[in-house]
Amino acid sequence: MTDNRDAISIDGLIPLTPQGPAQIDVANPPIDWSDGVLQDSFGRAIKNLRVSITDRCNFRCHYCMPEEGLVWLKREELLSYEEIERLVKIFVNIGVEEVRLTGGEPLVRRDVPALIEKLAPIKGIKSLSLTTNGFSLKSLCGDLVAAGLQRINVSMDTPVREKFAHITRRDALPEVLAGLEECEKYPSLAPIKVNAVAMRDFSEEDVLAFAELARRKPYVVRWIEFMPLDAEGKWDREDVLTGAEIRALIETKYPLVPISDSRIATAQRFAFADGAGEVGFINAVSEPFCETCDRIRLTADGQFRTCLFSRWETDLRSPLRDGSSDEEIEHTIRSAVWRKEMKHYINDPGFQPASRSMSQIGG
Ligand code: SAM
Ligand code: SF4
Repeated sequence: MTDNRDAISIDGLIPLTPQGPAQIDVANPPIDWSDGVLQDSFGRAIKNLRVSITDRCNFRCHYCMPEEGLVWLKREELLSYEEIERLVKIFVNIGVEEVRLTGGEPLVRRDVPALIEKLAPIKGIKSLSLTTNGFSLKSLCGDLVAAGLQRINVSMDTPVREKFAHITRRDALPEVLAGLEECEKYPSLAPIKVNAVAMRDFSEEDVLAFAELARRKPYVVRWIEFMPLDAEGKWDREDVLTGAEIRALIETKYPLVPISDSRIATAQRFAFADGAGEVGFINAVSEPFCETCDRIRLTADGQFRTCLFSRWETDLRSPLRDGSSDEEIEHTIRSAVWRKEMKHYINDPGFQPASRSMSQIGG
């Protein structure tokens, strides 16, 4: 995919950096973007919406947040559950099929089941899921499932308690493991996904233990390559442990076979050759999947982002609050999606980090 289109900006938006809005010829668009399914100027149909419901968190993972936390959004800056519901309905009406709640840590916000109850009945949502650090799952999992939650991803970077306490700055591995066990009681959540950020000189020694967890438990363990989204800007390419390296480590003991997946997938999926479980690799840095990216994001303060690495956002909170109609908001969304970035540019000269860190965007 190359971006050789005319350099004309729209809506007065001047392209900023490579990660600025895609440059398109609005006078001569290849299709009519104002109608039909939501798609960008590269022809990617947008199906997957991540909704951050808070920027706060009870952990302080080294690769995400500083020890002292960040300046939190004020309550009135957050979208209310009613505002989120209205926006999700608009998105689903124009083609979004998968909705994932995230944060910050989504479960630190009050009464998340009440939000799930509002979203679950929306016609057209094929998957309603949550990404969490798992700390509060033991007490909340039942209510979340009863409210209509369909899928869950639990982040856990190491199965070793001391290392967990170091990387998250919280000695909370027992709570997270208890949360995962709680999830097992609800078969409708299967497959439970466990996500680990893969970092060089940290993750290698846990690889076989994680593989054994994936073999022993009904968990799909997936490694996510460390990305330049940490609030302190400490990311270094040298710290990225690639999915290929992890796969090779697993295969020293457990042979893997690829699982072909016809759906657009960000994760490369592998089964253990003896059929004992599944693992996955999200190789966003070493093997970018931007060409098939179908994701968009809504921050907790109602800013709409078309790429994790965007350096621009579209304000949806103001139109929500100034009496704009659903049709006007839909037009704003379509216009922003049309300008979705071609790719994340992490591996290109001149790459600049995203305008906010992971917990502020919604991972
Ligand atoms: N607090 C929840 C959690 O940790 O699952 C949800 C939000 S968190 C920002 C979402 C995901 O982003 C987590 O799996 C986390 O490990 C991942 N993440 C955070 N910072 C990252 C980074 N710099 N590179 C790669 N993944 C990152
Ligand atoms: Fe919190 Fe998740 Fe960021 Fe860790 S990765 S600090 S749990 S938001």
